[in-house]
Amino acid sequence: MHSLHRSLGIYAFVFLFLAVIGGWLVYDFRQERDRLLEDIARLAIHKSQVISRSFGDTFLAADYVLRDVLGRIDVERDFSEASRNPAIRGQMDALVKEKVETVAGLSDLVLLNQDCTFVAVARHPLQGAKSNQAFCSEPDIAPGQSLRIQYMPPDKSANGRSVVLMSRTVASSEGRLLGAAMVVIDLEFAQNWISSFSTDRNDVLAIVDTSSTLLARNPPLPEALGKRAPPPSGTLSFADVGAGSTFMAASPIDGQERIFGLSRLERFPFVAIVGYDKARVLQGWQHRSWQFSIGFVVLLALSLLALRAHLTVVRQREDMRKLATTDVLTGIANRRHFMDVGQHEFARAKRHDRPLAVLMLDIDRFKSINDRWGHPTGDRVIQKLAELLGVVARALDTSGRLGGEEFAVLLPETDASGACVIAERLRGIVEESQVAVIDGDFTLNFTVSIGIAVLHDDATFEILLQRGDKALYQAKEGGRNRVVAL
Ligand code: GH3
Ligand code: MG
Ligand code: MG
Repeated sequence: MHSLHRSLGIYAFVFLFLAVIGGWLVYDFRQERDRLLEDIARLAIHKSQVISRSFGDTFLAADYVLRDVLGRIDVERDFSEASRNPAIRGQMDALVKEKVETVAGLSDLVLLNQDCTFVAVARHPLQGAKSNQAFCSEPDIAPGQSLRIQYMPPDKSANGRSVVLMSRTVASSEGRLLGAAMVVIDLEFAQNWISSFSTDRNDVLAIVDTSSTLLARNPPLPEALGKRAPPPSGTLSFADVGAGSTFMAASPIDGQERIFGLSRLERFPFVAIVGYDKARVLQGWQHRSWQFSIGFVVLLALSLLALRAHLTVVRQREDMRKLATTDVLTGIANRRHFMDVGQHEFARAKRHDRPLAVLMLDIDRFKSINDRWGHPTGDRVIQKLAELLGVVARALDTSGRLGGEEFAVLLPETDASGACVIAERLRGIVEESQVAVIDGDFTLNFTVSIGIAVLHDDATFEILLQRGDKALYQAKEGGRNRVVAL
């Protein structure tokens, strides 16, 4: 049993060790994963900032054109007179035609008078028509110049394409519209521009306006342009995006899980979005964590197999030891084991000068029990006696079957009087015990004779046993069912 416990201890330690290693691996892999995702999120933000900055430059340039054009016009006079005065109209036309060429991506540049009539148009023949811009019907416009930006889907724009209209209104101090300059930015330009960035498979670059309309996307997705693409996270609105935010989510457009970096254009209601394919980012990490996990599981399985094999060996060894030391019929110590323990106790008692007693027992007239009730019932009597020895014996005593119907009990730390008390008790309970006769519904009684030998100056354990045998013989001679001490 001892070696079983020891090996269980060793294995418990091994498994604890493996559990610690496993826990550490999991922790470390999680940390690495978080680090990877953080790094890629930072990269996404950074790239979105680069895109928003350069995209913003176009809008800045467009706004510069608007201010430039308005700066060259006497707003109060030219706008109100333009419809009547062809010379002024001609100047204005020349001006917008010249300025529209100065910034790439501008598809038109127009001027509107106080009635929202087109008085100068660089490219589209709209002169004289009325604009339906929101500010045209507003009763109260911010005095001075103010910038407005509006997305126009293809079905509403004059050139039939997705455009962003950027206008600067000029109003009197009372909020009355005096005129406006407006550029049309063709989003095809934005789409071409954003497509010029190289992306890895499943990565995405996009520009949306703050009301979630998709303006440009790489890889291109023409059917989604101009449609609303709400932020996937649900919690975040594009209007709240600042100089840099990040989140991880499945795209509402293609369902791909990505790590997004977002950054809003300075001064303009647009947001640049960079999304990196999460699966690809984590591919190497996933590969390694699988390798480690499989390695770990194999290690664990091997340890379990080793443990099982080892436990089997230990158990077999234990079984063999038991088989070699116990008597098959009664389960108590056999003669050899009893002699081993006896020799050991004998030496110990002598060394420490401690008392030691031994009881020799023999069932009385056992032959006639066998003859009368049969051998199997005789076996039962033998078993019964072994059972009763277990009842009387204390923890440190050893009972053994020496052979046939002869038993012995080793009583360490026991002197003559103590041994007599135990022997008497034993004799008494044997006398009172009942053994069921096999194939008969009645019981039989039996008795034992007991010889006691107490350690004096015996040279060997065998000599002590011989004295016990002598005492047993005397008990038999004296009439049986009695205890004799020598
Ligand atoms: P005594 O009172 O003098 O001891 O008389 P007894 O009949 O018990 O005499 P003895 O001790 O010589 O008897 C031993 C008998 O025990 C002989 C044998 O048949 C029987 N015996 C020995 N081993 C076993 C066993 O394992 N089972 C059974 N049923 N009988 C056994
Ligand atoms: Mg006998
Ligand atoms: Mg006998």
